[in-house]
Amino acid sequence: MISNPHAFAGNPIRSKTPKPSEPASPQYAVQTLKTLLVSGQSGPVSPDFRILPFRKGRPLAGSATEGLKWHLGWLSLGECKAYLESSEAGRLSDDAFVYLGCKNQEDDVVYWAIDVSEVSELVTELGARHFCFVELRTLMVATDWADSTAMGELAIAGHARALLEWHNTSRFCGYCGCKTVAAEAGRRKQCSSELCKKRIYPRVDPVVIMLVIDKDNDSVLLSRQSRFVPRMWSCLAGFIEPGESLEEAVRRETWEETGIEVGEVVYHSSQPWPVGAGSMPCQLMVGFFAYAKTLEINVDKEELEDAKWHSREDVRKALTFAEYKKAQLTAAAKVEQMCKGVEKGQNLSADFNVESGELAPMFIPGPFAIAHHLISSWVNEVPVNGVEAQKQAAGSLSNL
Ligand SMILES: [Zn+2]
Repeated sequence: MISNPHAFAGNPIRSKTPKPSEPASPQYAVQTLKTLLVSGQSGPVSPDFRILPFRKGRPLAGSATEGLKWHLGWLSLGECKAYLESSEAGRLSDDAFVYLGCKNQEDDVVYWAIDVSEVSELVTELGARHFCFVELRTLMVATDWADSTAMGELAIAGHARALLEWHNTSRFCGYCGCKTVAAEAGRRKQCSSELCKKRIYPRVDPVVIMLVIDKDNDSVLLSRQSRFVPRMWSCLAGFIEPGESLEEAVRRETWEETGIEVGEVVYHSSQPWPVGAGSMPCQLMVGFFAYAKTLEINVDKEELEDAKWHSREDVRKALTFAEYKKAQLTAAAKVEQMCKGVEKGQNLSADFNVESGELAPMFIPGPFAIAHHLISSWVNEVPVNGVEAQKQAAGSLSNL
């Protein structure tokens, strides 16, 4: 068990579903929001809108005046109107609006995300306010994982990005090929064909990620993919196939990629992962400890560059010497520079794995990744739901 939620988990905004006629209801509010954005009306309105613009999958972020803390670029309705006025707010399709929810029932504030990828004027206007559209992966690395407020902001941005990107990849009905239209304030879609009317919900793509542990509990199987930065080793992972249980996916992936047979599979924790491949904006990483029945490795070179057993001591050293905090501060400084217009580069993906780990011959991903927590839980012998102890006493789940 980990003490803090994983990056992208623990979203403080909950979508509630009040009656459609209530001002805070998604159905009502999307019309209010769109009407207010295109109309000349000004002054306070109820509900009070907080709007987070996105551009090509990147949330608007701002730099703090002190310290290296980024924050999301929430705009009030008035601000959003001001930035959109010179362009064509009315041109934004329903797909561009996504209802995120409220923070609590009594609160009159409703949170929305808007995709403004088609609106060019917004960028220069916001640049003057030290706002900038930043890659979510960059924000992920830049987030202080001990800061629950910042982690909450990251989770909100991840949820919003997953929904907006899902709209981009579900423009047509998979059944009849007609266009889809947004429904329930962007939380589902519906086929526009009167004959079909198929309802389409955001999909989540589950991925198993497993730390394979040897029989004696002394070493773990870590692997390298060719896309990894040098010296980085991590857990095995793979997509679940249709008709397969999570445990079966863990065993199959491990066998296919490394030739290792897995027996017992123990659930650890899960992490939403909205920063994966573009076509799958809403992955869910499901983390396991997987206990090996064999030791001999036979690496599938198509899938992996290498896979090796690493002793607890070596992995502990890798964790001890990796400069995760430095990497986080470096990323935070870059976000600040981007927001202040000092650094023009929008894509910092090359700097994603900036943890140098200079002192260790290997390092593992930073605390923003579930792999980090699987590995550090094992190194520190943190019990997983008490199952570690049960395992010693009661044998195995390997026949499941
Ligand atoms: Zn259809």
